[in-house]
Amino acid sequence: MKIALIASEANPFAKTGGLADVLGALSLALERLGHEIALILPAHRSVLRGDYALQDSGMTVTVPVSERQETATILTTTIGNDVTVYFIRADKYFDREFLYGTPTADYSDNAERFVFFCRAALEILNANPVDIVHGHDWQAALAIVYLKTQADRYRAIAGAKTVFTIHNLAFQGLFDQRDWHLLNLDSEFYRPQYLEFYNHINFLKGALVLADKITTVSLSYAQEVMTPEQGFGLDGIMRQRARDLVGILNGIDDNQWNPWTDPQISHRYGEHSVAIKVSCKNSLRQQVGLADHGETPIVAMISRLTSQKGFDLVEQCFDQLLQRDVQFMLLGSGEPRYEQYFRAASARYPGRVAVRIGFDEQLAHQIEAGADLFLMPSLFEPCGLNQMYSLKYGTVPIVRAVGGLKDSVQDYDPANRSGTGLVFTDYDANSMLAAIDRGLAVYRNQADWTGLRRRAMAMDFSWERSARLYSDLYRGLLA
Ligand code: ADP
Repeated sequence: MKIALIASEANPFAKTGGLADVLGALSLALERLGHEIALILPAHRSVLRGDYALQDSGMTVTVPVSERQETATILTTTIGNDVTVYFIRADKYFDREFLYGTPTADYSDNAERFVFFCRAALEILNANPVDIVHGHDWQAALAIVYLKTQADRYRAIAGAKTVFTIHNLAFQGLFDQRDWHLLNLDSEFYRPQYLEFYNHINFLKGALVLADKITTVSLSYAQEVMTPEQGFGLDGIMRQRARDLVGILNGIDDNQWNPWTDPQISHRYGEHSVAIKVSCKNSLRQQVGLADHGETPIVAMISRLTSQKGFDLVEQCFDQLLQRDVQFMLLGSGEPRYEQYFRAASARYPGRVAVRIGFDEQLAHQIEAGADLFLMPSLFEPCGLNQMYSLKYGTVPIVRAVGGLKDSVQDYDPANRSGTGLVFTDYDANSMLAAIDRGLAVYRNQADWTGLRRRAMAMDFSWERSARLYSDLYRGLLA
């Protein structure tokens, strides 16, 4: 099949979160199954300044934005064997320091930027037709909308089937109704049945209504988005589309996240040499200024600092946690209130709490290799990747039973010596602390701890498995 993946981020070109990991790996995994893959991305500044052997395709596309015509040049490169990556280059839209906004505010022209991006993507495909158009998250949602509502403009792909993946329903691309003119859509689509959402324009909603199939990134999350608690106002639509809604758990990229081959960590190890992790732990301590407290376990977090990730719980019981014999390491960036809290916490507990504010890919690998326990107490979690990286690195995850966390970590059961991590259910600090305490108790028992880590490391989250499920879905649509 010829498949186009449209998204705003993909590893290694541009990344703010898990979306990028998925696109980078899924495109290659689908290619390995024999499909012909095109990946379409904006030419963000990180692309233009990176070292990616970009070629000028010679193609330019001109698209309507409101009353104007706007033009992009199309750059290309190849990843894997022959995945064509198309970059839509329009520097006034995408050559910016950040992808979506500064740390304090979204860019004010995001509606225009992603109207432009989606239309330009369809122009590329109109000249290079595919069987399947697969959009990801709100930034790509209008590609589905335009294909379904303005087919005469995109004739060569009018018959393509459409799939849309929700990586996080909390981000919907909500814009003021004054931006409606930018979309050049008939006013009949500015209604609650389509893109209107409480007097705003909702890009994501358009794709959820119009895509042939909708997927989300875990089985549990596919159920959860149909509930008022986790539907972010779109649960009604999700229930209406229940028959076309599929959950497919993300995989993890073995080339990037494998302690046996990882070039970014100080010592490499596998399931049967997990004792070597202690050397990684010592390197990590030295590097981030944690004291050499021998066997004291390190509890780590790597995350966007937002309430979604459960930081309110961590704050609530942080001092209680530090009454235990633990060290704590956080790598993250996001909401200033959390940044301030954790900076202050590291000052209060010198040598015991290390905090790095920022985005640091290499340090993320070193933490996965060096920490003992990994905390992910999310309020909601569509899939989550770090708990799977943690399993792979023998860093036992402590997670809340929600979304993809629930689907990928099995609670430790001392009676049967089964399970791969520690799981708690209620979104409350005491439940989380109880799970941490259970983890610390296993940590103190050498034999049980080794068994738990081995089971964790043996879990298979290969992209091949996930890619096959996408492939089956596409095939079903074309049948
Ligand atoms: P989300 O997409 O909701 O942010 P995921 O767990 O799905 O959460 O994916 C997060 C990805 O971003 C992981 O690859 C994680 O390692 C990475 N990440 C998050 N914060 C940082 C950071 N501060 N530095 C380096 N990597 C980070």
